[in-house]
Amino acid sequence: MNSTMQTTTLDSRIADQYWKATVARDSRSDGVFYLGVRSTHIYCRPSCPARRPLRRNVEFFHTRKEAEQHGFRPCLRCKPNEISGATALVQKAAAILASSDEESLRLGGVARQLHTSSSRLRRAFGQVTGLSPRDLAEALRLKRFKNLLRQGRKITDALYETGYGSSSRVYERSNAQLGMTPATYQKGGKGMKLGYTITDAKLGKVLVAATDRGVSAVYLGDSEAKLLAELREEYPKAEIVTARGGLEKWVKEIVSRTEGNPPRQELPLDLLATAFQRRVWQELQRIPLGKTKTYAQVARALGKPSASRAVARACATNPVSVVVPCHRVIRGDGNLAGYRWGIERKQQLLRTEKAEAAAAV
Ligand SMILES: [Zn+2]
Repeated sequence: MNSTMQTTTLDSRIADQYWKATVARDSRSDGVFYLGVRSTHIYCRPSCPARRPLRRNVEFFHTRKEAEQHGFRPCLRCKPNEISGATALVQKAAAILASSDEESLRLGGVARQLHTSSSRLRRAFGQVTGLSPRDLAEALRLKRFKNLLRQGRKITDALYETGYGSSSRVYERSNAQLGMTPATYQKGGKGMKLGYTITDAKLGKVLVAATDRGVSAVYLGDSEAKLLAELREEYPKAEIVTARGGLEKWVKEIVSRTEGNPPRQELPLDLLATAFQRRVWQELQRIPLGKTKTYAQVARALGKPSASRAVARACATNPVSVVVPCHRVIRGDGNLAGYRWGIERKQQLLRTEKAEAAAAV
């Protein structure tokens, strides 16, 4: 796959989005891409206050490294090679939040420790992470909670150590975020028998893991070792073995879908999911090939218009990529948002699906 982000090779729709963000000096795009200006050999953050170059002189890159490999030097005004003030602030705040044991976090207290105001801290969070400080604190705490359980700590001890006041609260959280109840999670998938296989496809390596009831994981990546490590991390106590045949039909169907083809056969799924995740994933399967929806549209379709963020979380935790097409969900402003398997794979999937859908008409 070509990782260079020149406008000539970049999907024109993505290039259009990046150019729009550039013209708007959209700080939310900082860190998403960099623009190189051919006439000056300088590269900038999208929010750079300097005068906008002509579009034909602009190349887009996803990393600083790529920009520098192409001979661009960092701009002295927006300093794209340095961590921005907002990012540094959020990193420090995240460290405090991660070690906080209080049930109710006082943002004011964190801001005071960092010699800044609550509103500035909240703004920095929105800009850098798109999350509120409270969301981030919850996510960090949940991660610590999961780690303690994986280390074999008792649920009650883990609850105490991570500052959850009552077990009902963590059950409610875990249902929204873990996809498994803590009791199941403590077992780390114990009793589950997963057979996996890794195949080469146009998108890279595709890992498919399944129980004898259905497909449980579809991961995309470049390294077999990394994909397998992710599977083991998700199910540390499951029995994970190389599939000895029997998966071929499912794998063939999955690879075909990664190449933009419409479903040719039903795929049975065996997923550990909450009722809400299941509803979101079903809704995603209704988005036709070649089309996208926003998180808000999916939330509305579920009859929960205020649940966009929960929808985004359900997308991010989708264990069977492509089969549940979470890549067809994008942000309201047209930004592609993230993708667990890399934004370029999301772009490529959407591009091939669009072409395939257009050809089928
Ligand atoms: Zn600049």
